[in-house]
Amino acid sequence: MDLYSGHINKLIEELAALPGIGSKSAQRLAFHLINMPKSRVERLANTILDARENVRYCKECYTLTDQDICPVCSNHNRDHSTIMVVENARDLAAYEKTGKYTGVYHVLHGAISPMLGIGPGDIKLKELMQRLEGDVKEVIIATNSSLEGETTAMYISKLIKPTGIKVTRIASGVPVGGDLEYIDEVTLLRALEGRVEI
Ligand code: ZN
Repeated sequence: MDLYSGHINKLIEELAALPGIGSKSAQRLAFHLINMPKSRVERLANTILDARENVRYCKECYTLTDQDICPVCSNHNRDHSTIMVVENARDLAAYEKTGKYTGVYHVLHGAISPMLGIGPGDIKLKELMQRLEGDVKEVIIATNSSLEGETTAMYISKLIKPTGIKVTRIASGVPVGGDLEYIDEVTLLRALEGRVEI
């Protein structure tokens, strides 16, 4: 039996399909939304549409940006010969917040996970290898210290080794299984400074 109207059920269903939102939260959000003034709902809906339409991948590092080339990649004061490889744009933001990293990034948009059926072809690895054809001196692998992050780091290191480019891995000051985005800046910097060649 449907407890609510079909419209609400549909809204709850859509919200519950978003990451990190369980059915209880979806219900709460749905009721909050339908009680909001119509103008605010319109603003929210338009903001989502605008973001979806205007945000794209940077042509160099594949982070999310409003322009063809993101502000980091288009900054000539950054060291374009040092590339830090991260799993997602949130990790990039975490390192950017430290204000101390002067190189550029490469965003993989995921990590290799045989369990979830995510292979090397499902993340931006080919794109990374293409970038290495340019003038690159060091690749810093800053994937998470989860099983997937470590698997990805090993895979990338093996791929890059034959090119002769220096490959380093951030130190394990980052707790095992820890997501970079939740780690404080001091720990992030320590992990970066303590990176070791692999
Ligand atoms: Zn970029």
